[in-house]
Amino acid sequence: MNNPAIGVVGCAGRMGRLLARMVQDRDGCRLAGGTERAGSTAVGQDLGELIGAGALDLPISDQADVLFEIADVVLDFTSPTAAADHASLAAEKGSALLIGTTGLDQGILDRIAAAAERTAILQAANTSLGVNLLLALVEQAAAKLSDSYDIEIVEMHHRHKVDAPSGTALALGEAAARGRGVALQENADWARHGQTGAREAGHIGFAVLRGGDVAGDHSVVFAADGERLELGHRASSREVFAQGAVTAAQWLAGRPPGLYGMRDVLDL
Ligand code: NAD
Repeated sequence: MNNPAIGVVGCAGRMGRLLARMVQDRDGCRLAGGTERAGSTAVGQDLGELIGAGALDLPISDQADVLFEIADVVLDFTSPTAAADHASLAAEKGSALLIGTTGLDQGILDRIAAAAERTAILQAANTSLGVNLLLALVEQAAAKLSDSYDIEIVEMHHRHKVDAPSGTALALGEAAARGRGVALQENADWARHGQTGAREAGHIGFAVLRGGDVAGDHSVVFAADGERLELGHRASSREVFAQGAVTAAQWLAGRPPGLYGMRDVLDL
């Protein structure tokens, strides 16, 4: 689709501001507007002023249905329950939706899948090119290495992050499990504390660090007797996620209904 109108729900958030600014600055798309949760101090402010782009005559609203009416694609980096409500609205109004929000439980994933039968939805826990390439590499490595290689996933994020392990760490765990031909849920060690006993072969372990302003570090360790393979990614700024998300939104505009991922955008 030519020059799609892109809206940003949660536009005053850390990611929301970056996304709105990037849509505004990017050729080949235009900024449709932004919403915030009811009661936010951003409601009523001009979106252009909020993102430092000067007045754009786009007042921030708490009425998402109006934005879904006028936008070809909406970007959602909000909270899990808001993301599910936005998926239902997208299905109702026919606009496409990109969900970058993480911490989605099965009930919410089911609501998103149901909405994707009626409109195009792309869900991605991480929208950077590097992480999506890493997912493919981890799946390959896990397929080649036997379970004498213990898989451990380590992630670190800024102190404000509310879900753990990160959506990206979970996606890395899923990729490793897929490579091994096992189900992650039945093989994950989510945390360790106290008398844990020895590590079980075939398990996939997670370790979570929180602090400072870290945009997102992930590494996947394959540890065997005598050697250790480490595949990792470090995001030094959130801009890399916003760039990928806006590229994906441009790709998503005008697509038929369905549930898409970054793999489809990046042709991985
Ligand atoms: P944040 O708390 O700074 O921003 C979230 C914003 O959403 C807030 O401004 C909040 O008021 C708003 N919001 C909440 N409910 C709303 C609703 N119903 N309607 C409109 N706005 C609403 O958080 P953040 O750091 O920007 O992260 C947001 C989400 O994006 C998290 O789940 C995070 O893990 C995820 N994230 C994903 C990627 C990726 O690449 N996919 C990258 C970074 C962050």
